[in-house]
Amino acid sequence: MASASNNAAKSNSKIKAQPITAREIQMLKQKLISDQERILGNFEEKKIMGGQANYTETKDEVDSANEDILLSTTLRFSNRENFYLKKIKKALMKIDHNEYGICEECGENISFARLTARPTSEMCINCKEESERAEHQNIHMRGSKSIGKKIDLVTSLP
Ligand SMILES: [Zn+2]
Repeated sequence: MASASNNAAKSNSKIKAQPITAREIQMLKQKLISDQERILGNFEEKKIMGGQANYTETKDEVDSANEDILLSTTLRFSNRENFYLKKIKKALMKIDHNEYGICEECGENISFARLTARPTSEMCINCKEESERAEHQNIHMRGSKSIGKKIDLVTSLP
């Protein structure tokens, strides 16, 4: 796998975070694993609950209506947890490949404080802020882009 540290020189002027230590990685790994187990545990519980519901022989209309609501809530919840579970797996894989704690954008270190708050962080705070700023700018720029083009056309005329 290509290392993200190849393009590390991009943001020299920005605040640099210290690389996280092996001990810190272990702490974050434990956090990731316990989060993963908690989510997987929730999945198991839901499965058991679903199984029990199938054995109920007599259902009146109110019961099945409640089950529909319960099912849709469970599904929505599962999608969000599934997404987080994927991020955890990716982070754990990065730890195994010694790529954890390195920004995917610029290859700089992601600070331990940031990783403690969000162990699945894939970008350093600088890149995260920049990408959020760019998103905002895209929204504002959309209208004025065509005007810019027209001006370019006019000035390039002989
Ligand atoms: Zn970065």
